[in-house]
Amino acid sequence: ANDRVGWRFDNSYARLPDYFFAQMSPVPVRAPQTVILNPVLAESLGLDIGALTAEEVALLFSGNVMPQGAQPIAQAYAGHQFGHFTMLGDGRAILLGEHLTPTNERFDIQLKGSGQTPFSRRGDGRAALAPMLREYIISEAMHGLGIPSTRSLAVATTGEQVMRETLLPGAILTRVAASHLRVGTFEYAAGQSDVNAIRILADYTIQRHYSDLKDATNPYLSLLNRVIERQAALIAKWLLSGFIHGVMNTDNMSISGETIDYGPCAFMDAYNPNTVFSSIDQNGRYRYSNQPLMAQWNLARLAETLLPMIDPVQEKAVTLAEEAIHAFPEIYQSEWMAGMRKKLGLITEEANDPELITDLLTWMYQHQADYTNTFRALISEAFPGGNMFQDAGFEAWYVRWQARLARQPEPKEISLRLMQVNNPAIIPRNHRVEEALSAASEQGDYTLIQQLIAAVANPYADVAEYYEYRTPPAPSERVYQTFC
Ligand code: AMP
Ligand code: MG
Ligand code: MG
Repeated sequence: ANDRVGWRFDNSYARLPDYFFAQMSPVPVRAPQTVILNPVLAESLGLDIGALTAEEVALLFSGNVMPQGAQPIAQAYAGHQFGHFTMLGDGRAILLGEHLTPTNERFDIQLKGSGQTPFSRRGDGRAALAPMLREYIISEAMHGLGIPSTRSLAVATTGEQVMRETLLPGAILTRVAASHLRVGTFEYAAGQSDVNAIRILADYTIQRHYSDLKDATNPYLSLLNRVIERQAALIAKWLLSGFIHGVMNTDNMSISGETIDYGPCAFMDAYNPNTVFSSIDQNGRYRYSNQPLMAQWNLARLAETLLPMIDPVQEKAVTLAEEAIHAFPEIYQSEWMAGMRKKLGLITEEANDPELITDLLTWMYQHQADYTNTFRALISEAFPGGNMFQDAGFEAWYVRWQARLARQPEPKEISLRLMQVNNPAIIPRNHRVEEALSAASEQGDYTLIQQLIAAVANPYADVAEYYEYRTPPAPSERVYQTFC
């Protein structure tokens, strides 16, 4: 029945040398049931899920039945976790293969929570329902915000329980990604006894993601530069939207420049650069404001794996790689500044813009202003952003900003339009996410989740029905910690 869906698999990763993966099927589950499905994403992939019965859909998204053309594998990788090198790999995920869309775009189709693999170490290979729903909500919200991200196609419950602190319902997420190539995949390849492993992986990456670099003078240095550019642009978008990833280990940093691996991630409400949510991030290594520095650190680990190919003379390779890594802050800063200008409706560039922006952020920090709502409220006073316009400090800033806008030759409508598409009204606020997850995971009620998913899909629109999602948490609703 699966062939009616329109699968077009071409599994290039499975054609790499065998040490890059383990052939492995998902471990069947007892009583699969689809609880969330993404019809818009399915359609954009050229998949006709409607051709299947509900039972067939559940068998598909639980991994009990393989789609036509799939070649299931668990990918090998390594990574620095909180600064320490470890051998890892897909311990609870199976890559079904690479699906080609009708326009020949290539996407990994991966099941997460699909059972033990040779890389499971002491883990059970499974996932609890709430974290998989959480990944679904946040990844789709990221996509709605225009931030590169893996996507979520479906969540299926397994009919089995998983043992965490308590027994929880088990589930499997179907993740769609440009690829699952990670910085950690390169670290893994660099450690292989096959001295060609890293070149094979780099060539594969260039072919798959950056084919324009094939004929560059130094393709491997160009690859490094390109990943640096993608990551700088991505992390800038994270900070501009108030997103905190939570576990920026090198195995969770994608080579394609997509946000990947949603664990204890969250959006901040009140602006505070020191915000950290993750319960396992004791030292705040991955706190909001430290994310650019951590990305640069991760990219340095990537650079190390490429050294022998960047130049045969090691000293020269190191110089070139260092130069590339040292460029990160500047690229990041210019991406962030460009994004901030848009948020403030600034089309031209003036020397004092950084100061104007910093002063607003400082005011927000001092007044614990809501990050998202403050920017959104600048568009118009239609949505109450607290008493911000009655504060003397804000008033002074507001006058400077208005004067700055007035110096632009473009009509003010253009600034307003720019602000409307760069300042979201709706983010998946943590208290609303937690509320929806509890209802689904504890009561089997998916009403709140469906509503939240619909709201975050169009975060820049003014939809009266979703106004309630703009309200920051009351002190009693505030979420301070998130868990993997
Ligand atoms: P993460 O922190 O989500 O990036 O996961 C780090 C590593 O732990 C990856 O290799 C995962 O595959 C593995 N892992 C996480 N949870 C489990 C689990 N329940 N069973 C087996 N492996 C797991
Ligand atoms: Mg991971
Ligand atoms: Mg994870």
